[in-house]
Order: sequence, then structure tokens, then C-alpha cells
Amino acid sequence: MNYERIKEKLDILADAAKYDVSCSSSGSTRTNKNKGLGNSSSSGICHTYTEDGRCVSLLKILLTNHCIFNCAYCVTRKSNDIKRAAFKVQEVVDLTIAFYRRNYIEGLFLSSGIFKNPDYTMERLIGVAKKLRLEENFNGYIHLKSIPGASDELMREAGLYADRLSVNIEIPTEKGLKLLAPDKDRKDFIMPMNKVKNEIIQYKNDKRKFKNTPLYAPAGQSTQMIIGAGGETDAEIMYSSAYFYKQFNLKRVYYSGYIPISYDERLPAIGTEVPLLRENRLYQTDWLLRFYGFDIRELLTPEHPNLDSDIDPKLSWALRHLDLFPLDINKADKFMLARIPGVGLKSVNKIIQARRFRRLNWDHLKALGIASNRAKYFILCNSGEYESKDRTAAQIKGLILQNSTSKFRKTFDQQLNLFNSIN
Ligand code: SF4
Repeated sequence: MNYERIKEKLDILADAAKYDVSCSSSGSTRTNKNKGLGNSSSSGICHTYTEDGRCVSLLKILLTNHCIFNCAYCVTRKSNDIKRAAFKVQEVVDLTIAFYRRNYIEGLFLSSGIFKNPDYTMERLIGVAKKLRLEENFNGYIHLKSIPGASDELMREAGLYADRLSVNIEIPTEKGLKLLAPDKDRKDFIMPMNKVKNEIIQYKNDKRKFKNTPLYAPAGQSTQMIIGAGGETDAEIMYSSAYFYKQFNLKRVYYSGYIPISYDERLPAIGTEVPLLRENRLYQTDWLLRFYGFDIRELLTPEHPNLDSDIDPKLSWALRHLDLFPLDINKADKFMLARIPGVGLKSVNKIIQARRFRRLNWDHLKALGIASNRAKYFILCNSGEYESKDRTAAQIKGLILQNSTSKFRKTFDQQLNLFNSIN
């Protein structure tokens, strides 16, 4: 093995992979068998964090950064003048095993530019996973990228070796895709997703009847959307996300703030700040829609198509619905408890448990982990105090921001000055 050349390829192809954030191993339960290597528990893959706070896995690489497409937002696009490289299938297998044995990684996240055609590329990605599973007896986590346009047969095979599959739709809307990646067709993303969805259902059904049915993509499928490249509103992004969750039973949609990497009049200029705060607000909204019973129309409307960047979306909703508050924490139902700013789902369950035995006051609520700096404006409890009194939504927002310890706090500075006089 030419170690210098492998090292060079690793530098190029690990660097090119850092723009993909969809690398969580959550949801996989593959266990070690036949005294093999690895074990993908729910905390599975080893993560690290880049300077801007993104999560990356330690062996997160592209098979190649050659690509026949020219998507404007992508560093790998064919017109970009960059160093190119391609791993052989066996090289990725050897690296994965070598890194695993050294305890550097707990799994593999393998993506690729598209060389020759989608099937040619997909076959090679599958080749890596197949060798790892069958020849190396590797039971660690494997996340494979599904190449848009890959055939059904290959998608079926991919799920037999990978824990998770994902097709990145990248640009949330069709109009954005047409603008930034005119060679791509939305149906090329949809077809592999649909195939994977149907296979997962089929294999689960078979497993109920036949115990020896193999696992098929046990951690499901996910996708990634780039935020801030195509000019979409938050409402457009969340509607697109909801469509993909529902139609293809996705486990996760990842939102990745666009990092300006090229001069192109269709894109934000180089030097434009990466929209990390917006990314964070979209994740919060995603969570509210999937786990807290919110509907998109409650959080984003034609009049307000973008989220409030100063405050989280639940607080923003609550401030627009002050008529529903204060809620009596000792009486409110589970649905409404989950809508109180500063009260998470775990806390809701704790409140319901605890109030069976006593009427809860502020001391009890603090002991249960309620974020009282936000919740106190929306709650009545056994202490008899109610912080909101006759305050307006703007006043409450100002007071909350004033006491915020958020890492994004510097963005609130102007607001703080505005409300200083209230105290
Ligand atoms: S097809 Fe994928 S790798 Fe190729 S330029 Fe487009 S986004 Fe980049």
C-alpha cells in the first residue's frame, strides 16, 4: 500500500465530506455477532465537532470527489478547480478496519460524487459495505449515501449491508433545484427514497413471519437540506421537510446552513455568515412538529413565513397566543403542558407524575428541571404568583432575552437596550 498516496486521498476526501451533516447513528440496533468487529449501539458512531459546531464522524469520507454534475452549491461540482481523488473499494475497507482497530472510529459514513453514472457509483459504495460485512465480519455502524438516480436493484442491495441510507435532496424546493442544479431532476431523489421505504416495510413484515429475515437498513433513511442557498423561506423548508417525513417515513431531516464556497451570482457571496442560528431554529421547529403536536400553520403563516431568530419557535408561538395563558400547572392537560415555553416533554411527564401527590409550587417545578426564566410568564402554580400580570408580548420577550444565557446571545444585544427602560 502506498501510504503517502492514501494519506493524500484521505485529506482530500475527508475534507470534501465535511459539508454533509447527516451523520447520526441514532436508531440502529445492530449487535455484534459471530465474534466479529464492532457493535452499533444507539450511541453508535464516534462524533467530533468542527469549529462552527457541526457534528462529524471520524471516518466520514467520500469515495470520490469526481462528479459529472455541476450543482452550484457543491464544492465537488465538476467546474470547480480542486484536487480530485478516488478511493478503491478495498482501500476504504482497509481504512475502516484499521481505524476501528485503533479505536479511532465506531463506524463509517460513506458518500460520493457521481462518477460515470449513478449505478456505477452506487455499486462501488455497496461494494465497500458488502466487503466490510461479509469479508471482515464488521458489525459497526455503516451509513451509505444513496446516489440519486440509482436503480431499484442496487437500492435493495444497499439496505442489506447499511444501517442507514440517505439521499440528500439538498435544495428544499423544486424552483431552487432548477435554479442551482438544473441538470438534476427531483424524481431522481424520490425514486430511491421510495424504494428504500417500501423495502423497509416489506422486510419488517417478513421479519414478523420469518425470524431469519435479514435486517434491512435498520436505522431507516434520512436526508439533508441546505439552508440559505436557494432563497427559500422557513415555511417552504418546513413544508418540504414535512412532505418527506410523511411520504418516505424518514427518520431525520438534517438542516445544513450553506457555507459560501464559490463566486456565483445565484448564491450568497463568499464571506456571508453561515446561517447557524437559522439552522438551529429549523431544528427546533422540526422537533415541535414531530413530538409536540404542533402544526406548521401554527408556527409559520403566509404573513410570517420566517421564524423569529431572537427566540425559539415555541416561545414565539406562546407570545402570539397570550390569551391561552397562564395555564394552571396543576390542572392543564398533557397537550397544553407541552406548549409552555421552557417545559420539555420529559418535564411534562414529571409534572403529571408529581402532581398526583401534591399541588406543585415553584420550588417543586424548579426541582423538576423546568426552565423557570421562560415558563414563569405562562404558568400559574400553587405559589400564587404570576409573573406575566399585564405585560405585553413585547415586554415579556424583552425580559426573557435580557436574562438569556443562549450562545446566540450576542444577536440579542440591540433588543436588550430597547427594553432596559422597562425595569
Ligand atoms: S451530484 Fe452531488 S456531489 Fe455532484 S455536484 Fe451535485 S451535490 Fe455535488
